[in-house]
Amino acid sequence: MAPKRICLIGAGPSGMSVLFQLEKLRKEGVDVPEVVCYEKQSNWGGLWNYTWRTGNDEHGEPIHGSMYRYLWSNGPKEALEFPDYTFEDHYGRAIPSFPPREVLFDYLQGRWKKMGLKEKINFKTVVRMVTFNEETDKFSVVTENLTERNLTSKIQPTEEFDYVFVASGHYSVPYVPTYPGVDRFPGRVMHSHDFRDACEFKDKRILIVGASYSAEDIALQTIKYGASKVICTYRSKPQGYKWPETIEERPIFTHVDGKVVHFSDGTTAEVDAIMFCTGYLHYYPWIEDKLRLRSVNSLYPPNLYKGIIFTPEGHNGGNNKMLYIGTQDQYYTYTMFDVEALWALKYVLGQIDVPDKKTMRANLIGWAERLKSSKDCYADIDFQTDFVLELAKDCNYLDGVDLDVTKIFYDWHHDKEIDVLSYRDKSFTSKFTGTKSPIHHSTFMSALDDSKECFMATK
Ligand SMILES: Cc1cc2nc3c(=O)[nH]c(=O)nc-3n(C[C@H](O)[C@H](O)[C@H](O)COP(=O)(O)OP(=O)(O)OC[C@H]3O[C@@H](n4cnc5c(N)ncnc54)[C@H](O)[C@@H]3O)c2cc1C
Repeated sequence: MAPKRICLIGAGPSGMSVLFQLEKLRKEGVDVPEVVCYEKQSNWGGLWNYTWRTGNDEHGEPIHGSMYRYLWSNGPKEALEFPDYTFEDHYGRAIPSFPPREVLFDYLQGRWKKMGLKEKINFKTVVRMVTFNEETDKFSVVTENLTERNLTSKIQPTEEFDYVFVASGHYSVPYVPTYPGVDRFPGRVMHSHDFRDACEFKDKRILIVGASYSAEDIALQTIKYGASKVICTYRSKPQGYKWPETIEERPIFTHVDGKVVHFSDGTTAEVDAIMFCTGYLHYYPWIEDKLRLRSVNSLYPPNLYKGIIFTPEGHNGGNNKMLYIGTQDQYYTYTMFDVEALWALKYVLGQIDVPDKKTMRANLIGWAERLKSSKDCYADIDFQTDFVLELAKDCNYLDGVDLDVTKIFYDWHHDKEIDVLSYRDKSFTSKFTGTKSPIHHSTFMSALDDSKECFMATK
């Protein structure tokens, strides 16, 4: 029998985990399927591959990156560390719990380089269309090579695959609402997807629209780098942190008149810039309708058995071969992607069985129902912990290593509730090395240099 062929879309942390686990299985002597990875950027790392660019790239493609300069981990590194490749393994010593982007990216790359994964990726190759042919029982995938586009507009020959793994991320296509008067606002209006350098807002007054992670982090960032005032405006409930005097929260705004923002509680304020931190869309226009996930940002996107196999209610060509990796909203990140990757590969290898469609749907609906009754972030953390642990058990991830970092997440959240300015100055203990991380030489709010060199320098 010809070996199975998998099309893997994306070489961010999720896609790289698929390549990593595949190589690991190969090294263990398993007869692994062929995986062809397409990545539209010129480097691996997905969002962690920082770009200064906004809008479109040099080929006219929408920019994938949403990360900005001075971005520091928003959760403790001990909650995302790989048990088989710890931060101590990578850096040769313990490092503080909340590293900046470059330090995290370097860590990820260390694990990927060890396995020689770069040569497995078709860079600058964007997937244009995925369809499924019921007669041949195969997927057809159309890609375009961006390197040659300007010369020849090189659409590659259509490739056929037995499975498709979508690992294209879901924090790249901004959701941008509008409000009366924004079109005539005499200042910068943008979405956080295009935010790069907080220094742009020095001495400025900013309206931040939204009440989630981006709103919180960008409010702190801009104040840290010199903004004079930030007002965060929320639709349903405030973030509720103990903000410094320079940050405040107000209910949603109704309209803008010139530079003056009118809020629904009747108050007004003058601002110089408006930043929409209103989240991102799951957006897969290059996947044919019957295979396409449609979801808002959720800890359990709909129609995914075990959060992975696309199992819609209606007709999807009768296959269980369209898989999505890393589509969940995230407390757990790298380890969750890694577990999903191994689960997916073991499923393709026939080492994990799935039940009939009715049972699969009952299972995924059960998870979705549980999520609906989740009352707060602590319940959400429990939910995702259970999700990760179940998958890990199914695929015997690292012979049953315990990935449960609930306690770390609880403490982290509690720290934030106490003081949002200093939660990144705390230290956590690695579950896998037992080492308590050292305290960084500078507090987060005073550390203006986010380079790896500065972070790693000891006093
Ligand atoms: C501002 C911001 C801050 C964050 N901070 C943290 C943090 O501190 N800690 C943390 O753990 N997580 C953080 N995250 C979460 C982040 O989502 C994950 O860490 C991780 O990057 C998700 O990996 P992924 O591979 O699923 O997706 P991505 O990283 O988005 O990678 C997807 C890849 O798919 C490629 N791709 C997309 N479409 C196509 C196509 N059609 N054809 C070919 N290739 C395609 C993209 O180019 C990209 O390389 C943050 C996210 C954002 C937006």
